[in-house]
Amino acid sequence: RPIIAIVGRPNVGKSTIFNRIIGDRLAIVEDKPGITRDRIYGTGEWNGRAFSIVDTGGIEIDGEDEIMKSVRMQAELAIEEADVIIFMVDAKTGLTHADDEVAQMLLRSRKPIVVAVNKVDNFSRQDDVYEFYSLGFGDPVPISGSHGIGIGDLLDAAVERLPELVEEHYDEDVIRVALIGRPNVGKSSLVNALLGEERVIVSDVAGTTRDAIDTPFERDGQKFVLIDTAGMRKRGKVYESTEKYSVMRALKAIERADVVLVLINGEEGIIEQDKHIAGYAHEAGKASIFVVNKWDTIEKDDKTMQHFEQNIRDHFLFMTYAPVVFLSAKTKSRLHKLLPVVCRVSEQHALRIQTHILNDIISDAIAINPPPTDKGRRLRINYVTQVAVKPPTIVLFANDPDMMHFSYERYLENKIRAAFDFAGTPIRIFTRKKS
Ligand code: GDP
Repeated sequence: RPIIAIVGRPNVGKSTIFNRIIGDRLAIVEDKPGITRDRIYGTGEWNGRAFSIVDTGGIEIDGEDEIMKSVRMQAELAIEEADVIIFMVDAKTGLTHADDEVAQMLLRSRKPIVVAVNKVDNFSRQDDVYEFYSLGFGDPVPISGSHGIGIGDLLDAAVERLPELVEEHYDEDVIRVALIGRPNVGKSSLVNALLGEERVIVSDVAGTTRDAIDTPFERDGQKFVLIDTAGMRKRGKVYESTEKYSVMRALKAIERADVVLVLINGEEGIIEQDKHIAGYAHEAGKASIFVVNKWDTIEKDDKTMQHFEQNIRDHFLFMTYAPVVFLSAKTKSRLHKLLPVVCRVSEQHALRIQTHILNDIISDAIAINPPPTDKGRRLRINYVTQVAVKPPTIVLFANDPDMMHFSYERYLENKIRAAFDFAGTPIRIFTRKKS
């Protein structure tokens, strides 16, 4: 998915607009137990184009200098990572010096920009927007976050400027692997370890995304590509350690991967940010593996691994399907365990179950534990079929889809998982009406 970023001074209303754009989607995600969500990124669809949207603001701070610094950083982030930038200004305060400065940065970037003028109250007059033509980005779009007016026009303008979809040119038999995790967890080290030390960059090929550099390699006859190895090697930027920066990079890499390695720092343990990062891979429907790195630093006995794995299970309730691999990128101990697991989950991610077998499994499951009832009516599941792979997507045809409960869906998922492997892959289940 391409990324749309929202940039602007504090208090121009970025998060209000962000929330309007992602709307109910976020709420739905948050309903499911175990998933925590930071409110800085969401997904949307408009005029048939799917996109991710990132609110690069979020932290509202005081003091003119601090504000300028934070806005500059947002703009840099957005310029580096976004495909389209929504530059938000405020009709109430009018054009400010800070707006001008950001505009200069954005102009130099040559990224597609849409100026959104928020807090326009009188849509019949629109005098408010004239002064913003001087920013140099064409027609500003008047909006009102608090009244929810103009959001459609804004999305029209943003989506129209998204780049054309580019087909990836990797063969079907190549497994695309992304490494994600918070800074310093050892992503670059693991890339080096997998590729055999520092010779890496010589064999790089340019990916289709402008600035992504992927690195192909082969092991035991299987071809792999490590996604965005260049991005992981960028060093020394002030914002590298900020969560938003890592989020955007991770999102892009996940989007293009088949298998996602979610790196956990074995030395420091699991923190909240790890959950956000893992959640992106889950929601994107990718195969995932937890890789506990820096295992060399741990004092171990015969229970250590088991305890750590349990700790992962407790923290990542929504990803019980993901296998856990313990290793050290530094000493390369247990490194050989990783690629076989990558191959296995990649296979499971693309697994297709025959319809009659699936129907047998579900019938048996229903016989043991019948579907929910509501006011004397019972949910009746008539037919089941797998409609897609990567991730496996299963549709249940039923008399009344509204009667499906999350817990019953989970029960059926567990039955399906008990019958097949599906290791490392999320399974999507939809209930459709058909009696
Ligand atoms: P990145 O920010 O996720 O790419 O992390 P790096 O690969 O740059 O690693 C961050 C730091 O952790 C570096 O100082 C590495 O040498 C160190 N490191 C990475 N992997 C391991 C490991 O398996 N064991 C130990 N002890 N240190 C590691």
